[in-house]
Amino acid sequence: MATNRTFTMLKPDAVEKGHIGAILEKITASGFRIVAMKLTQMTKADAETFYAIHNERPFFPELVAYMTRGPIVAAILEKDNAVEDFRTLIGATNPADAAEGTIRKMYAASISENAVHGSDSNDNAAIECAFHFSGREQF
Ligand code: UDP
Repeated sequence: MATNRTFTMLKPDAVEKGHIGAILEKITASGFRIVAMKLTQMTKADAETFYAIHNERPFFPELVAYMTRGPIVAAILEKDNAVEDFRTLIGATNPADAAEGTIRKMYAASISENAVHGSDSNDNAAIECAFHFSGREQF
């Protein structure tokens, strides 16, 4: 996995509220190329595996219920310095702490329902891209 790729999900709250188009526009206008993308829904097992690092945290059951309650848009994005630049574009986990103009500031409701995911390291980006997409789905 090249270090200039990251993985994102537009989470169920963003999809429910009809923000797919606006968020994708912001992502592509910020210089990210879409390498792979699909509308899909995570199973309970998918969410428990994807967020396994948080499985001891008190919010874990709520996180799994949230992430499985409806469809998400999963995508792989490409840009120089993709992981770090995308984390800057989405803003802090808690939208109350997110900078003006960031996706979470604009579209997230709370620290739990925060509209969008972005990989936090190159290693995790590679794992997360492979979790959701085969090589044949990546362009
Ligand atoms: N989360 C939550 N409560 C918290 C912290 C996180 O519900 O107190 C959820 C939230 O949806 C977040 C996800 O768990 O995006 C993963 O948390 P992490 O700390 O990895 O934040 P991220 O990398 O998504 O900014």
